[in-house]
Amino acid sequence: MNSDSPNQMLPIVDTLGRAHTALRISVTDRCNIRCFYCMPNEKIEFLPSREILSFEEIVSFVEILADHGVKKLRITGGEPLVRSQLYKLIQKLVVVPGIADVALTTNGILLTEQAQSLYDAGLHRLNISLDTLSEQVFQRITRRSGLEKVLQGIDQARQVGFSNIRLNAIAMAGLTETEVVPLAEFARQHRLELRFIEFMPLDAEQAWQPDKVFSGQDVKRMIEDRFGKLQPVQADDSSQPARNFAYDDGSGQVGFINSVTEPFCGSCNRIRLTAEGKLRNCLFSTTEWDIRELLRSDATGQEIAARVRECVFAKKAAHGIDGQDFERPLKAMYQIGG
Ligand code: SF4
Repeated sequence: MNSDSPNQMLPIVDTLGRAHTALRISVTDRCNIRCFYCMPNEKIEFLPSREILSFEEIVSFVEILADHGVKKLRITGGEPLVRSQLYKLIQKLVVVPGIADVALTTNGILLTEQAQSLYDAGLHRLNISLDTLSEQVFQRITRRSGLEKVLQGIDQARQVGFSNIRLNAIAMAGLTETEVVPLAEFARQHRLELRFIEFMPLDAEQAWQPDKVFSGQDVKRMIEDRFGKLQPVQADDSSQPARNFAYDDGSGQVGFINSVTEPFCGSCNRIRLTAEGKLRNCLFSTTEWDIRELLRSDATGQEIAARVRECVFAKKAAHGIDGQDFERPLKAMYQIGG
């Protein structure tokens, strides 16, 4: 790949005028647990390592996008911490000119071991998945044990200095009702921001049904019944998916990502790079654009940016989950990166 002169760089805007300033980067499709709302329990054909983008290839792509207005990066998976020496990628990404924010989403199982190296590498923010505080429910969801490791990982992340930690909990009917109050109490007690994410039709076993969505509004009502009225908090970034509320007693904030019942596609600024180097203009995209083939050829930065533009120009107005002609993506959450 050849580099280009800096002043040819225009932001990446779609046909609806949405500027794409956030890139989510999946660094692996592998994971050390098997959450049923994400991946199958067995017989998984993982990507061979030669097909996975190298750290150098990811950094090259980010450098091109940073020249086109991308400022925020989120590292995802599968489970990103199973990718060996991930801190080395973080070290390189945080110094790319134009990149202002590098965050990571993890299931926390390997966080105790890696929190210090991630922090020292300059990682800015951590989102940790925590759907329950019951080992029994944890095993029902993940088909593995490990809740204790996740809680220790949260502790270690705070001890090494991470202050910007968010907890992500799935909101699923028939599962989350019993977890809402204990999770909210835990987050209030530890001064952590908790967010509930509505169950989306991206589960590998295709069990998703509209009636399995436990709506953010319902979760919010449960929290208000227990902790009192929640006050809306003005978002500092209009494109952020979460709607945040503050507890009246000053015990922090709780957020709701109501992607199914209250879609926020109108202000979407996100594109996604899969572990094997495919670009997606939406979580629910059924089409992908091959970036890896260009990164592994002598394509110029402009040629790569042109393919990114092509991808973004094809972006639909919204996911259309509630529409008659909604088509589930062929890929599941672990193959996209959330
Ligand atoms: S569903 Fe697609 S368009 Fe809507 S917010 Fe998510 S990524 Fe953006």
